[in-house]
Amino acid sequence: MTFKMAVPNKGRLHDRTIELLLKSGLDLGEDWGRRLYVTAKNQDIEILFVRAQDIPRFIAIGSVDLGITGQDQIADSGFVLKEVLELEFGHCRLSVAVPEQSNIRTVDDIKDGCRVATSFPNVTKRFFDSKGKNVEIVNVSGAAEIMPYIGVSDIIVDLVSSGATLKTNRLMEIETLVTSQAVMVTSEKAMEANSARIMDIVNSVKSVIDAENKKYLMADVPVSQLPEIDKLFPGLAGPTVMNISGRTDMVAIHVVVDSNTIFDSVNKLQKLGAKGILTLPIERLVP
Ligand code: AMP
Repeated sequence: MTFKMAVPNKGRLHDRTIELLLKSGLDLGEDWGRRLYVTAKNQDIEILFVRAQDIPRFIAIGSVDLGITGQDQIADSGFVLKEVLELEFGHCRLSVAVPEQSNIRTVDDIKDGCRVATSFPNVTKRFFDSKGKNVEIVNVSGAAEIMPYIGVSDIIVDLVSSGATLKTNRLMEIETLVTSQAVMVTSEKAMEANSARIMDIVNSVKSVIDAENKKYLMADVPVSQLPEIDKLFPGLAGPTVMNISGRTDMVAIHVVVDSNTIFDSVNKLQKLGAKGILTLPIERLVP
């Protein structure tokens, strides 16, 4: 049976998901943007474009083998799934937010009967049940932030990333229920049947993410500074050192460095007398 993978068809998780799949070498063909599903050329993987919210269910019932969605969606679905890779994007948290002018400052201040607007009714119910609070869940499909203003609810449980939307709507975050990012997710059953295929996809996508977090750095450095240069790149195997034709005082080094340390690395190399410093992106990093 063809292996099936579900990815978000639109919304916040869509663009980066597609970018990761393409960079990891899945060939979606020319017209994937207009189709509900495509078969990746040469790989016998069907990619289905569906709502991020529906993906946990499709995996749980075995309609698809693998998916990409937010941990918030998995949490709300209530299904026990198997997260196989954190994708390091779509970071957000599901939080309780209250109108600034209310006198609620902690969950303890929330009274029984309080109306909570949310698109995450299941996690929200479980959370308030665990706190012994008997709240009324008002299930909305979006724009929860507006609900206290128009009198539909007293408070909300909604996704927050920067907090700017809450601020605009004069809401205050008081507690986090779930922290979330996009993940690659499957089920125990799909994993048993297809572990080799799943791990191939996981490893390809992981190699893209790992590569994006690294840069390839090349420089010509004074031989006398090699001990100092070794100290500059701790934790790695150390730079590859190569002779430069006609030079005895300088050698070339090549090294993979963390992208977030590149600023410091280049400055320090320059101070050690390095010349011709080049940094390059890496496409895939397979250890
Ligand atoms: P969509 O509703 O299709 O745009 O997808 C929303 C998903 O994007 C959520 O379930 C989260 O996993 C993720 N996300 C990341 N940051 C945010 C945010 N600030 N607001 C809403 N969703 C976010």
